[in-house]
Amino acid sequence: MTYEIALAGNPNVGKSTVFNALTGLKQHTGNWTGKTVELCTGIYKYHDCFFNVTDLPGTYSMKSYSKEESVSQSYLSEKNADCVIIVADSNVLERNLSYILEVLELQSKAVLCLNMSDEAKRNGTVIDTEILSKELGIPVLKTCAVKKAGLEELKQTVQEICEKDASVDINNTPLLDNALLLSNRSREICEKCVRYSKSTKRSRLDKILTSKATGIPIMLALFALLFWITAIGANYPSGWLSALFGLIKEWLYYLSDLLQAPGFLRGILIDGVYTTLSWVVSVMLPPMAVFFPLFSIIEDSGYLPRIAFNLDKFFSCCGSNGKQSLSMAMGIGCNACGVTGCRIIENPRERLIAVLTNNFMPCNGRFPILIAMIMMFFAGSAFGIISSLETALILLLILVACVLITLGVSKLLSVTVLKGTQSGFALELPPYRKPQILKTIARSMLHRTLFVLGRAVIVAAPAGAVIWLTANIKIGDCSVLRYCTDFLDPFGRFIGLDGVILTAFILGFPANETVIPIIIMSYTASGVLTEYSGYPELLSLLSANGWTVTTAVCMTVMTVLHFPCSTTCLTIKKETGSLKWTLLSMAIPTVLGIAVCAAIANIMRLF
Ligand code: GDP
Repeated sequence: MTYEIALAGNPNVGKSTVFNALTGLKQHTGNWTGKTVELCTGIYKYHDCFFNVTDLPGTYSMKSYSKEESVSQSYLSEKNADCVIIVADSNVLERNLSYILEVLELQSKAVLCLNMSDEAKRNGTVIDTEILSKELGIPVLKTCAVKKAGLEELKQTVQEICEKDASVDINNTPLLDNALLLSNRSREICEKCVRYSKSTKRSRLDKILTSKATGIPIMLALFALLFWITAIGANYPSGWLSALFGLIKEWLYYLSDLLQAPGFLRGILIDGVYTTLSWVVSVMLPPMAVFFPLFSIIEDSGYLPRIAFNLDKFFSCCGSNGKQSLSMAMGIGCNACGVTGCRIIENPRERLIAVLTNNFMPCNGRFPILIAMIMMFFAGSAFGIISSLETALILLLILVACVLITLGVSKLLSVTVLKGTQSGFALELPPYRKPQILKTIARSMLHRTLFVLGRAVIVAAPAGAVIWLTANIKIGDCSVLRYCTDFLDPFGRFIGLDGVILTAFILGFPANETVIPIIIMSYTASGVLTEYSGYPELLSLLSANGWTVTTAVCMTVMTVLHFPCSTTCLTIKKETGSLKWTLLSMAIPTVLGIAVCAAIANIMRLF
């Protein structure tokens, strides 16, 4: 027997944690509001029955103001789930109750899961589940999802509800369109069943982390520390991986000699596919494997909404919304995720601004390019602790520049094509929580690091073959790749780059991860160097092909300022439903990038 279960609740009540605890390691958790925007499904088995769980987006109401609200509402009213698990935060039951009552009007076969019961106990909040259950007409259970406490009872109750045919009769009058009635009823219920013993004060930590004087400096210091650990942690493994891949390459050559493989096959598979893959993995994996788990821990602790709070005044000066900084933080991982994350912004005009500017945040695919540029050209020649600190500070500067560009372009959009009134917004500052370190690391490795790496590998392997072919199929004396790079060379040089780099950015449209491998392959196709074991070798290859500090600066600018990758463009098209905005989101960074590079290159030439 298979039953349909829906999981509903306000944002940040532990819904994803309950979902994961029921169905296994499936979904991304983080301590801030609004990160579950897609419907996510999973399955679990209990007593020979299967339960198909759909995680509805966390919302505060069912009024269909936003996409998530209408998704939840239409799911609950049309799909007719066999049971709805409503997850609530025991610490703030009264605020959760309006939503609970709204859900119960659409679906009466439900169970209320009073989550975060550990925190409520610590805070001295006592909820009488029996009275609450009578008031609502549904079973009420206490759970602590992070410790998996109460989940057996939950599964048992869900099964009982599914098997019971008659829907539960609840005592309600039509309240849906009357917010005042809803809140009065919530208060009335809470008065009957909740006892608080301690007052909830604004935490002492928040006084420091969101204060005008210390909030932003602490934020910058934290990011500098994060980048520093990333730079130190990524440097050595990157070298080891390159060395390992180099060794494997020798064996592959040896094997191909042994098998007397034709030269063409050996070229396309080893020099094309394998070399590109090994570069993508050795350059991308180490920084991602360090940065993303650390970033996820910060996210899980509840710090990100404080960033939104600290930056709100800057964003409102620029005609947009502090929540944009949350979608920007998601964009650091992947711009396509960042663009989807913009759904947390209710106002359509401000949401569009956030969508169009998300690409200014360097994603996974571009972070390693920035780190490579900094390590080779800007952070001194020593590859030690000091240069890691320099790398971190320069990376921080680049990130600050990205934020400033985002603010500038947001302002520009809000006074031109996206004029309109600014909205206020409510941002929930969740309590700080001790991050679930091991789980967070495991999940971020699985979902962010390996997922992105997998995507890069899927794109890089065929890209490697195509690039090798274009580099080796000759028309007359020249390869196809050479024709392209030669054609783009004059323009490339005008903006401080060259034809190879421009070709790499264009061919890197499916994934930015392939930009560096394309550059390497194009240069080596002209027969300069064949073996690398890390940044020093890459540096000598680039220098041999005429790279200077100016080239590196322009490369850095172009990395941040060019069209989004194909996945992001598709996501923008899906989110905005408009080709015009998608094209604009490609044009803005590209035009800006070309203009800035041209200015830098030509000013440098004057000296
Ligand atoms: P969602 O937005 O409702 O999906 O919430 P998440 O599942 O992402 O959880 C938000 C935060 O609350 C995360 O930091 C979780 O680790 C934490 N959390 C979830 N359930 C519990 C719980 O029962 N007790 C405590 N103390 N923290 C929890």
